[in-house]
Amino acid sequence: MRMIYNFNPGPAVLPRPVLEQAQQELLDYQGRGMSILEMSHRSKEYEAINAEAEARFKRLLNVGDGYRVLFLQGGASTQFAMVPLNFLPPGAVADYLLTGAWAEKAYEEAARIGQVHIAASTREEQYRRIPRADEIRLSAAPAYVHITSNNTIYGTQWHTWPDVGDRPLVADMSSDIMSRQFDARRFALIYAGAQKNLGPAGVTVVLIREDWLERAARAEHVPTMLRYATHVQHNSLYNTPPAFAVYLTNLVLGWIEASGGLAAMEQRNRQKAQVVYDAIDGSGGFYRGHATPDSRSLMNVTFRLPNEALEKQFLREATDARMVGLAGHRSVGGVRASIYNAMSLEGCQALASFMAEFTRRYG
Ligand code: PMP
Repeated sequence: MRMIYNFNPGPAVLPRPVLEQAQQELLDYQGRGMSILEMSHRSKEYEAINAEAEARFKRLLNVGDGYRVLFLQGGASTQFAMVPLNFLPPGAVADYLLTGAWAEKAYEEAARIGQVHIAASTREEQYRRIPRADEIRLSAAPAYVHITSNNTIYGTQWHTWPDVGDRPLVADMSSDIMSRQFDARRFALIYAGAQKNLGPAGVTVVLIREDWLERAARAEHVPTMLRYATHVQHNSLYNTPPAFAVYLTNLVLGWIEASGGLAAMEQRNRQKAQVVYDAIDGSGGFYRGHATPDSRSLMNVTFRLPNEALEKQFLREATDARMVGLAGHRSVGGVRASIYNAMSLEGCQALASFMAEFTRRYG
């Protein structure tokens, strides 16, 4: 098999041991003579997977009984609507911090449903940075405050959470969930499409604080499938869940635990990101990072080269050197190295060496 380094932004690289286990269990799951793909979601095997995935998720984030974990469909994009549908009643205002294209999308979706307020935005600066604390202007009594913890396209990340007092804090953590240690109990709700740090596309994980759900859920008018309460009541088994995606996510969560949990993930991710940022900073200006240094993401490293022709050349030669998925998002251009949990340190070192070598030849 041809080994490659996969820098895709999502769907993205998965841990090799996880893929191997899935392959091994594909035809015969635990002696049942059939694949998990072919089994009822009401089987005791699937129920065990569903329960184990929830337990692992909560254990990794160190949250106790007051939280529930849901495995839903429709991607993070459906969460953009579900959050306001469930938690933004008429007369209330929700605050959004705009730090990138996904944050904008979440905001626009909420604006279709209720009243919204932009508490901060760095759009004017091409989303190169996260707003400073003194730039954030919350509305008088927001129903919740929404942030995007990691901005996949621009390569920025919140390193200090905004102070929202006792207002419910909601985060889209699609591109950095389980990549670092943080106090999850600061959040009323966290959601993440699985396809970057958690598993395959097709499942979206939601962590929700139960007391907030009870206090805020006046959602009788909301369609059944779009109500959090439905999925909480039915343990994410109201309808047929994306069973294989949840199964794989459970394996990834097991891999994170076995690797030392979030402390180990963070340590490794910091080391990995450092290697690539050092290659940018040490290039004498040949590579120019998109994000300002204080806002740099540990997950998506974005940078430009002196011109587009060189960027094309860089991507071509990188592919020849077995490094794929490096093209920047069309709105930023250039190069984006997505280095999620399952990307190895060796992958980042290979990229950094390639960058230095490329500079020697074209710089
Ligand atoms: N939020 C963020 C931060 C993302 O990176 C993405 C996808 N790249 C989304 C939301 C949208 O996720 P989905 O495709 O699962 O709807």
